Amino acid sequence: MDDTNLKPAEGLTERLYWLIRLRWVAVGGVFFTALFADKALHIPLALAALYSIAGALGVYNLLFLLYLAWFRAAARPDLPALANRLANAQIAMDLLGLTALLHFSGGVENPFAYYFVFHMIIASVLLSRRASYLQATFAVFLFLLMAGLEYSGVWTHYCVAVQAAGCRRADLINLLGVAAAFTSTLYIAVYMAGSVSLKLREKEATLRAANLLLNEKDRIKSNYVLRVSHDIKDHLAAIQACLDPVLHGLTGELKPAQENLIRRSYERTEKLTVFVKALLEITRIKLSQKMETGPFSLRKAAESAVNLVEERAKAKNIKLNFAVGPGVDVIVGAQIYIEETIANFLSNSIKYTPEGGSVDLMIGDAGASVLIRVSDTGMGIPKGDLPHIFEEFYRAKNAKAAERTGTGLGLSIAKEVAKRHNGRIWAESQEGKGSIFYLSLPKEAAEPGRSGDAGSPPGLRVSGG
Ligand code: ADP
Repeated sequence: MDDTNLKPAEGLTERLYWLIRLRWVAVGGVFFTALFADKALHIPLALAALYSIAGALGVYNLLFLLYLAWFRAAARPDLPALANRLANAQIAMDLLGLTALLHFSGGVENPFAYYFVFHMIIASVLLSRRASYLQATFAVFLFLLMAGLEYSGVWTHYCVAVQAAGCRRADLINLLGVAAAFTSTLYIAVYMAGSVSLKLREKEATLRAANLLLNEKDRIKSNYVLRVSHDIKDHLAAIQACLDPVLHGLTGELKPAQENLIRRSYERTEKLTVFVKALLEITRIKLSQKMETGPFSLRKAAESAVNLVEERAKAKNIKLNFAVGPGVDVIVGAQIYIEETIANFLSNSIKYTPEGGSVDLMIGDAGASVLIRVSDTGMGIPKGDLPHIFEEFYRAKNAKAAERTGTGLGLSIAKEVAKRHNGRIWAESQEGKGSIFYLSLPKEAAEPGRSGDAGSPPGLRVSGG
């Protein structure tokens, strides 16, 4: 996931999930390392204690996971503060767990003591600098406490050295050296990881601010386009209203040359109206916070889309096939937009398929979603153009050469519709052979309006997204 698109709280929550996943690995690691040390290396270990600690790690990991999921689902406004507290608590618990593991497996002489460094790096990534240093201090405190209590004999020292002389408990100078090295390592780790992390966070904040600014500028631009195109549409309607009676002879008979000119003007205004309407539509969708959705029959919507283009197919002697798989019927979504998207796929296929070709519309059930597929035997899309056809105003070279009319907006509207339904849209094509357009929609567009992935599943040739 691209973190620059995340709000700070969401970023931290994602990282907490990452920490939880990491902890599962740690739990498994403790089990297997203890087992290996016992069975293969025959190191004397307090196995029961080590397994219990690993078990406890697993239990609190599960609790953290449930707690986080519950808070996230409740969409509590105090999620940022909670995520921060949770990160602090998790790291502190991990430090306690690691200290306990060390205590039962050799104390300071266990080389895994340097795993504290990983926790310091994790703290620097997740927490503020102050909190990271506090965690480092807590880690040092725990380590020294363990070393001190073991050295003074208050706690049992579980010596794992094969030679008893290897037990550092007996050697104060050595112990102090280890403690000093340990303490400095942790603080240096926090300092270094913290510096890098701070720079990254600053960059992230800059990117987020730039992103917000861009969105705001885009919104202003869209509002502007909306106003201007609305005005143009009204003027076009007025021009057409004037040309229409002249063209139909209501103002007197026209000479052929006059009629020709008026007809051409009329046709141009018609084309311009189509363009302005498409522009208005994409702008409106982009500006709207939410689409009106409800349950509707996808089969019926597809039928009306087919009805819309049937005449055009007939006029070009194109065979239009339509099949709906079993189980496809009512879905939740914005009916008008979905119908329009299917009609747009179909009308493109008819437009870019030469006479005598065929166009197929197939709708299939895919479990929680439906898959709408329109294929044709048309001119196809050149390889270099395919990744761009869902961009606004984009028209492939061969399409421009074959069809002068076209706005280059139909597929970008379709892409927006897919996005608003948390669906996916993509295309496959081979120049000269034909194209296939896909639209996958969840049957229950749970939260239309929230941005979804308009990309394609892996392994398919993609456009848009
Ligand atoms: P247009 O008004 O140009 O059809 P669209 O946004 O609907 O605009 O489509 C964008 C471009 O995608 C088209 O100009 C064309 O290059 C390509 N395209 C879309 N559908 C097809 C198709 N069925 N066959 C070939 N090219 C297509």
